[in-house]
Amino acid sequence: MSTAFSTATTVDEALAALAGGARPVAGGTDLVVGARQGKALLPESLVAIHRVAELRGVEDVDGGLRLGPLATHAEVVAHRSVRERFTALADASAIVGSHATRAHGTIGGNLMNASPAMETGGPLLCLDATVSLRSATGTRAVAVGDLFAGPGSTVAASDELLVSVDLPPPAPGTGSAYVRLEYRRQMEIAVVGATAVVALEAGTVTGARLAITALAPTIRRVPEAEDALLGTTAEGGAVTAAARAAADGSFPISDVRASERYRKAMAEVIARRAIGVALARARGQDVPVPASGSHA
Ligand SMILES: Cc1cc2nc3c(=O)[nH]c(=O)nc-3n(C[C@H](O)[C@H](O)[C@H](O)COP(=O)(O)OP(=O)(O)OC[C@H]3O[C@@H](n4cnc5c(N)ncnc54)[C@H](O)[C@@H]3O)c2cc1C
Repeated sequence: MSTAFSTATTVDEALAALAGGARPVAGGTDLVVGARQGKALLPESLVAIHRVAELRGVEDVDGGLRLGPLATHAEVVAHRSVRERFTALADASAIVGSHATRAHGTIGGNLMNASPAMETGGPLLCLDATVSLRSATGTRAVAVGDLFAGPGSTVAASDELLVSVDLPPPAPGTGSAYVRLEYRRQMEIAVVGATAVVALEAGTVTGARLAITALAPTIRRVPEAEDALLGTTAEGGAVTAAARAAADGSFPISDVRASERYRKAMAEVIARRAIGVALARARGQDVPVPASGSHA
């Protein structure tokens, strides 16, 4: 089977192609690389969107952040606001694949590929991001928490293009972190991952978000872990309870990379590390990006 291939230079051109049955390709590091590896056939029709200028960029908007879906992981991790105020996202983009993967792989592609092991999903979920999905007939906003429908699938219709990812301003006193268990640094995906976002007011946790990665069919928050932190001073007992709740909220699979039992055991360890780094950052300590691999 041969694949029909076109290139869009505007969003409208891309939407027209999608309405005609084409599938968008951004960096191609999931879609094309996966086809080459035999994971799935290439779609019958592809529209390349990498030349659509309006889908690029990372910009500060009213204290929040707007990411064009074509923002590459390299651009995301280099952006000052991302590193300073949306740090969990910087942690995540910093460890995607290799230098080459980060130079081509995009935020939009990472989200829409919807892997349960994707790096940026947890941070975007915990940072309350919303995506805009546009088709030839209109645009709708979907919270990242409502985007994933299952492993490899989203609620987006086939004629909808992700056109932006918006993050609201974090509350004062917020620190965040994404940590993954990895067997090596480059060319790796998460065996287990955790995102923590905490807000502190006079030493008390007034906001808490915790999400797990590669531990359930989709990236998901664990409300029991968040409740264990809220209203506490985040001393050891509260952090341990939250990390245990993260493990209890995990339903991993066994595969070539790890057994279900090992993943569940590591969920507690990685969640504790993510919470520890998020707390340290909320307290003003400088924990380098990426947090994964630091020993906080
Ligand atoms: C060697 C290697 C290492 C990797 N390591 C990691 C890793 O450590 N962590 C990780 O999370 N991922 C990893 N990946 C996966 C991949 O690099 C990322 O998911 C990347 O962000 C995908 O972006 P892309 O632009 O290349 O997506 P593409 O392959 O272009 O697209 C992926 C999917 O998203 C859809 N899509 C793309 N853009 C849009 C849009 N704007 N609107 C609607 N749908 C869209 C496509 O149709 C396709 O279904 C790795 C890949 C490789 C090849």
